[in-house]
Amino acid sequence: MSRHTGPNCRFCRREGTKLFLKGERCTLEKCGFERRSYAPGQHGQNMRRRQSEYSVQLRAKQKLARIYGVREGQFRSYYEEATRVSGVSGENLLRLLESRLDSVVYRLGFAPSRKAARQLVKHNHFTMNGKRVNIPSLLTEPGAHIEVAEGSRQLEVIHESLRRSREMVPWLSVDKANLNGTVLERPSRDDIPTVAEEQLVIEFYSRL
Ligand code: SF4
Repeated sequence: MSRHTGPNCRFCRREGTKLFLKGERCTLEKCGFERRSYAPGQHGQNMRRRQSEYSVQLRAKQKLARIYGVREGQFRSYYEEATRVSGVSGENLLRLLESRLDSVVYRLGFAPSRKAARQLVKHNHFTMNGKRVNIPSLLTEPGAHIEVAEGSRQLEVIHESLRRSREMVPWLSVDKANLNGTVLERPSRDDIPTVAEEQLVIEFYSRL
């Protein structure tokens, strides 16, 4: 009997790449994509057809939305904001996604995945600039100080995540001993390690 792979792993298989949605498991042999790198479904192993331009753009959009765990309505609003302000729209879009509180909590190493970070934020385990916050989509700004809240400082999931080494991005600083971190500046594209084709996402929405 084959091992059940949860919906998150199906996303990776559908997009044809590892999206790293499950924390440590993604780096192990147990990774669903490592075991079955073809698309899910009855005809998954035979999906070799040529993709249209629209389909390529759609997949780039779906992939990015899945990496950050953002639903369609909110994703579109990020696109609108990214194209409204000056600068390169694709880079603006990625910067907005990275600035979400759940993503920052993940990047700081307080959670093993963005999904786990989202849960921790929702359950009131963090403060930002001294105030309790429980909205994962809250956008952080340079200078934002994020800290594990009193009463949550013994949570094993946080300590376990911090123990696992993860490359720190240069626009954040973390104080693991004191369970806090700071947003130093807005990230540039080069400082965002997410593998994405953000310009295709902009093209996807701009044709609608
Ligand atoms: Fe599942 Fe993570 Fe592997 Fe994706 S990278 S298939 S989420 S274990």
